[in-house]
Amino acid sequence: MPRTPVVGGNWKLNTTRDEAAALLRSLAETLDGLPGVEMIVCPPAPWLGDAADAFAGTSVAVGAQNVHWQPTGAFTGEQSAAVLAGTASHVIVGHSDRRHVFGESDELVAQKLRSVLDAGLTPILAVGELQEEREGDSTTAVLRRQLVAAFEGIDALPAGFVVAYEPVWAIGTGLTATPEIAQETCRVVREIIADRYDAATADAARIQYGGSVTADNIAALAAQPDIDGALVGGASLDADAFATICQAVAEAAGA
Ligand code: PEP
Repeated sequence: MPRTPVVGGNWKLNTTRDEAAALLRSLAETLDGLPGVEMIVCPPAPWLGDAADAFAGTSVAVGAQNVHWQPTGAFTGEQSAAVLAGTASHVIVGHSDRRHVFGESDELVAQKLRSVLDAGLTPILAVGELQEEREGDSTTAVLRRQLVAAFEGIDALPAGFVVAYEPVWAIGTGLTATPEIAQETCRVVREIIADRYDAATADAARIQYGGSVTADNIAALAAQPDIDGALVGGASLDADAFATICQAVAEAAGA
């Protein structure tokens, strides 16, 4: 089944407002109208409104990097899916920074995922193993645990659900998984989705690879049959590099 690939740019905690404005302008110019690929730009939360303005009327979507799991309440400094819905259409849930720097559990990720779906936003569910877990041959078990926990209480996934497979050892380290490792692990992610739901849900799901993706290594990754795009950190801060990545992903999918 043909799947429209998805590329996300996760700016993490980078850019001043002026830097963000310049980057958003360049991205709007270079990305708008690129066929055959969905593109989502995830700036720091304070610049989400600027991003929504910059991309209004373009084919580029705005995503948030994080979400609080409650819709409203006494949660100073947090943003709920209902709040984000004013500016963002997508939300990254379960990024490894959140899991491993901020200690978010599988259960918390599940609560966040449900809150995003309940608010009608589109989640990008990030999963991935630590280096010692890969070396200890527990990658499949870790991914199964993370995915099954995240799907708790979700009877059916929306068609084209997006999972970002991001080996933690490859994020921001310059160590990209080989296309073979990335393909095999994305295939395993699809198999886990099929086991939890059904073959049609798994076949329609988009599975991104993330971890030191660059304009130079994306083509070989995107050529793999179970890789449907990328979640990009560092390289998403360079408009030309990000556009090259989006273009390469679209071309690999036959656009
Ligand atoms: C990320 O932040 O999700 C990521 C993959 O970062 P980088 O591309 O810099 O490794």
